[in-house]
Amino acid sequence: MVEKFEERGMRTQEAEALASEFSTEEEIVEYLVADNTLTDIPGVGNRTSDRIWSWFKENFTEKNQERMERSEAYCMEYQVDTPPEEATDLEKGKFYFSFICPRCDTENPMKGDPQEFANRPYCCINCRWVPLLEGGAIERFLEENGFSS
Ligand SMILES: [Zn+2]
Repeated sequence: MVEKFEERGMRTQEAEALASEFSTEEEIVEYLVADNTLTDIPGVGNRTSDRIWSWFKENFTEKNQERMERSEAYCMEYQVDTPPEEATDLEKGKFYFSFICPRCDTENPMKGDPQEFANRPYCCINCRWVPLLEGGAIERFLEENGFSS
């Protein structure tokens, strides 16, 4: 187990801490996809936790995507809003969109270049939940709507 993690570029200290808690790589990946906290594991402090998360994000891009889709901590869903008299035009700095709250599905209207909101936390007008507006999802949203930069 320890060797297997090390082969994937994980440092010995992190690999040993994980090996004492998990018996397969699938188990640890499942644990991380569910967005569980690593510092709950004995021997895993903040620095070790940070390194394991980096390792996970680097080696399991799709699984990390799945984690963010599932987690309420990230907003992954956006929509273009077009007010009646003003067009949505990113080049002219006019862009109306909403982020959809991952907790209550409320549309939260925003104005401005969506990329400037990337990876910043915003409060939902309905439930007061504060998700992070995930940068990758904003990029995909702009591309899908023909606003790729
Ligand atoms: Zn909400």
